[in-house]
Amino acid sequence: MKRMKNLKIDKIEVIELNISLKEPISISLGTHYLAENVVIKIYADNGLVGTGEASPEINIVGETQSAEIEIAKLIATGIKGKDPLAIEDRIQDMDHIIDGNYTIKSAFDMALYDLLAKQAGLPLYQLLGGGNTREIYTDMTVYLGTPGRMAEQALEYKNEGFPTIKVKLGTSAEEDIERIRAIREAIGDEIPLRIDANQGWDTVTAIKILKALEQFNIDHCEEPIPKWNNTDLRRVRDNSPIPIMADESVFDHRDAFRLASMGACDYFNIKFAKSGGIHNAIKINAIAEGAGIKTQVGCMSESRYALTALTHFVAARNNVVWFDIDSSLSHAEDPVTGGIQYSGKGKWELPQVPGIGGDFDPEFLEKMKKSVI
Ligand SMILES: [Mg+2]
Repeated sequence: MKRMKNLKIDKIEVIELNISLKEPISISLGTHYLAENVVIKIYADNGLVGTGEASPEINIVGETQSAEIEIAKLIATGIKGKDPLAIEDRIQDMDHIIDGNYTIKSAFDMALYDLLAKQAGLPLYQLLGGGNTREIYTDMTVYLGTPGRMAEQALEYKNEGFPTIKVKLGTSAEEDIERIRAIREAIGDEIPLRIDANQGWDTVTAIKILKALEQFNIDHCEEPIPKWNNTDLRRVRDNSPIPIMADESVFDHRDAFRLASMGACDYFNIKFAKSGGIHNAIKINAIAEGAGIKTQVGCMSESRYALTALTHFVAARNNVVWFDIDSSLSHAEDPVTGGIQYSGKGKWELPQVPGIGGDFDPEFLEKMKKSVI
């Protein structure tokens, strides 16, 4: 049989993507007024194009849109002319070109997987070996504010039919306990809550708050203490009646292995912006599965495009059991054509077309700065 000729990367576009928010978004680490993302388009020499999106969260990953655009140009120069389907090799190239910077790398990873799935003629979840047999409902996030305002929002989301509400906490014991009390008063006891302190507590305060919140029907708590303190994360877990989910402390598969070996948490939150995309997300989930750890997927401020890629991953990995796929629901504009479709009450449906199955509206991208490598 004749050996198939390898594809080559012809050119890469790096495009800025600014999306306005319905209202400013606050967590314990900072406030955002705009989603400042980056789009990567990888053109293969057979005419296929793969698209990826990065959403840098400055307070969590230490990347910014403008820095990512410069780094993307470096990466693009380094991988141009190479085989886009050899994803393992291209990811090694990226890691040799520059350390860290997982969020911008995730846009390249996503574009490469989009190309691979298009070349294979399969929706991405099928390429990943998935059946897309489960219904996928996202939670909805209530961001930091006064207890009264947060309770109002939680009630609004409950009335919209979301199955679960995620609540941002992480200031002080007094305020955080009051926030949850006010939310429970507004929405009743049935609908489950998830909480996320975004590293805002110290160890002693975390244990105190988690014990005080036991009565409020809470699924789990994300990242209670500073992300570097894995030893104390285990102490918090050992003393908490609420299961602990590692988020900022698990970027890649190496973090996952360390935390799992230490018994430092009950669950992992996987985000492409931290893992560097799909390739490493698969590795994190595999380590989790081997350690008996269930996973959640989460997002930064991605549009529906990157959320579509994330939903393909969910549809292909049954160990992912919680879905925090809500960033685009806080955006005031939608730059995406195709992709996951929202049918209300938190429900997302995947497109049944080859690749990730969506794209950016060319008219929307026309207004944005673009570099071609
Ligand atoms: Mg989190």
